[in-house]
Amino acid sequence: MQPDGYSKTLLQVTGLTAGYGRIQVLWGVDLCVHEHESIVLLGANGAGKTTLLKAIMGLIEAWGGQVDFGGVNITRLRTDHRVRRGIVYMSEASGFVGLTVEENILIGAQFLPRSQIRGRADELYAVFPALAERRRALVSSLSGGQRKMVGIAKALAGNPRLIVMDEPSAGLSPLFVKEVVRVLTQFRAKDLALLIAEQNVKFLELADRVYTLDNGRIGFFGTVSEIHKNDALRRAYFGLK
Ligand code: ATP
Repeated sequence: MQPDGYSKTLLQVTGLTAGYGRIQVLWGVDLCVHEHESIVLLGANGAGKTTLLKAIMGLIEAWGGQVDFGGVNITRLRTDHRVRRGIVYMSEASGFVGLTVEENILIGAQFLPRSQIRGRADELYAVFPALAERRRALVSSLSGGQRKMVGIAKALAGNPRLIVMDEPSAGLSPLFVKEVVRVLTQFRAKDLALLIAEQNVKFLELADRVYTLDNGRIGFFGTVSEIHKNDALRRAYFGLK
């Protein structure tokens, strides 16, 4: 047991550096997610949040540093091998629009044992009744909010230990944001850990801890109440006086 009450470190990022071509974006990022923990990553546009999430997933190469997941060094693993280990990524553009809702969910579940796939899909339809009704519809025919739900259902389908999400609220109405938070809260109670890059303060309801990323470096990490006690952070991230 850790002193903070969490059982175990699930994801450990140490001294991570990465960028594009000659441009360095991440400058030695340290971050950890414990099992069952929800982390919200805050940062201005261009701070490097997407770059960090992609480097964690192996979608871009780490220049230096290390990423461990479940105690294993995954820094050089292919993305699909990371997914098999239980870490999935949901980008802003969630779900394959040219496929049906059901096909998306089955893709998400592809690494589960065959015998579990149907049951998992049905479990997800119970959580997302609107998707159950439209399971044979092409994702391109759905509303933006429903597409986001497909993205979340697809990410959850493989029964991951950690979901890494890039701005799940992007393009969503407040009603759908509330719905996304509701669904994630439900899964979080079932042992799922979350790492969410977000600007929408509604997601802080979910956060056990928060990290801020400033110009590719971690600025602050701590609890939501610690942010509220810090005038500069409150102003920067919540526009609160
Ligand atoms: P946003 O909230 O706007 O998505 P972010 O915090 O996710 O911002 P990144 O998308 O990681 O930030 O971008 C960090 C920096 O890397 C920015 O300066 C951006 O212009 C640059 N960048 C991002 N993607 C690429 C790319 N494919 N090639 C070159 N530079 C890139």
